[in-house]
Amino acid sequence: MTRPSDPILMHLLDESPRDECGVVGITGMEGAAELSFLALYALQHRGQESAGICAIDQGVGRLHKRLGLAAEVFDANVLKGLPGDTAVGHVRYSTAGGGQLANAQPIMVRYAMGDLAIAHNGNITNAYDVRNRLVKEGAIFQTDSDSEVIIHLIARSRHETVEAQIDDALTYLEGAFSLVLTVGDTLYAVRDPRGFRPLVLGRKGDGFAVASETCALDIIGAELIRDIYPGEVLKLRRGEITPLRNLVTVLRQAPCIFELVYFARPDSRIFGISVDRARRAFGRQLAREHPVEADAVLAVPDSANSAALGFSEGSGAPFELGLLRNHYVGRTFIRPSQEDRDFSARIKYAPVREVLEGRRVVVVDDSLVRGTTSGSLVNIIREAGASEVHLRIASPPVRFPCYYGIDMPTKGELLGHRMSIAEIEKHLGVDSLGYLSLEGMEEAVKEGGPFCNACFSGDYTAPLVDLEKGLIGPEDTGCC
Ligand code: AMP
Repeated sequence: MTRPSDPILMHLLDESPRDECGVVGITGMEGAAELSFLALYALQHRGQESAGICAIDQGVGRLHKRLGLAAEVFDANVLKGLPGDTAVGHVRYSTAGGGQLANAQPIMVRYAMGDLAIAHNGNITNAYDVRNRLVKEGAIFQTDSDSEVIIHLIARSRHETVEAQIDDALTYLEGAFSLVLTVGDTLYAVRDPRGFRPLVLGRKGDGFAVASETCALDIIGAELIRDIYPGEVLKLRRGEITPLRNLVTVLRQAPCIFELVYFARPDSRIFGISVDRARRAFGRQLAREHPVEADAVLAVPDSANSAALGFSEGSGAPFELGLLRNHYVGRTFIRPSQEDRDFSARIKYAPVREVLEGRRVVVVDDSLVRGTTSGSLVNIIREAGASEVHLRIASPPVRFPCYYGIDMPTKGELLGHRMSIAEIEKHLGVDSLGYLSLEGMEEAVKEGGPFCNACFSGDYTAPLVDLEKGLIGPEDTGCC
């Protein structure tokens, strides 16, 4: 597992600890690669380390993947070399598996039934266990990525049809997997039985698109049909949707609530819920739970904008643009020799003195992880003249690592694990601190639950096989 090791860079760069992956699959649409590129552009927030598209023309797959952002990896010429009406695409920031090109996705192989391409979002919690078994049986792995085990399981299945092979492969997997895969010109969409990661289905003309979030459907002009249900496997080809299996009733569903807190884009609908509406509801509930007399409500931009608007609605205090975020912080950053403690936050966020001077402000952030950002922001806001700084967090304390595909630091690095709320308040130097309660958060989005809330509660719904067998360390929280 690789992470940027320099904490300053981690906070400066958009590819920082934010990891995860975004996937798209398209079939029955001319120029599927170009449409996939647009979709990846919209899903860029889900992974900035590598981007790739495999397009299929007359059953033949052509793959292009590189390290970098979608716009850096693809240009008109590259896309011209990816003909066909079917494609899968992927953006990635890795945790399980290193960040090398070998681990970029989609992964494409030629096997008995044709060209097979796969793009995966999530973390398979028994990947090493399955991999060890496959290696003993003679399998040769080309990447460190947990996703490669899926390819091997499909290719080595003794079943005769592609559908039976996929079905067979899925029975070995634990954990989180939202998958799009193609065999020849046929697209398959798969969501693990607990439905940790989102996956939505859309239609455009006679074609179908499957993507991590609806923002990817919107950008290509596809209309949302519905979520792929937890446990569902769909075959999509020539205007027809064929359901292959549905484990929906077998296991407790557990879509990731942190997608609603932080990861997904606010213009998306996932798990049947508008992300913007969810965040506003979190903010309103937070205002009810932790009211405070204040002159202005500020968001830590951009991820907390919707929650701060909700807090403003709930509290009656005006929402103000008191912090600006610099969107042009690049991948390589020339660091001056003189750095102060809050340097990384100052590069990313600037205070608007006119809004802050002499005012009692509430700063709303979506989550507190290591607490580095908030600590620095409090200093910056005070220096700009705010008379009181109250911090409100639109989610409960993050106390446990995620093993289902969101990169959380180790327990020891999580502020919510190391300190009590009173200690955090003191540590950050705020006039008051309030977290949204777990019950309040779940109540605010009750139409979508029950959710996975393991990062807040430690309640891990899917077995952590690799961790329990000692095949990964507790710090190896897994992949995209
Ligand atoms: P921290 O300084 O570690 O407390 O960072 C918290 C900020 O990072 C919050 O404002 C979130 O918007 C953002 N954040 C939350 N979870 C993650 C994550 N897994 N990866 C990267 N950033 C995150």
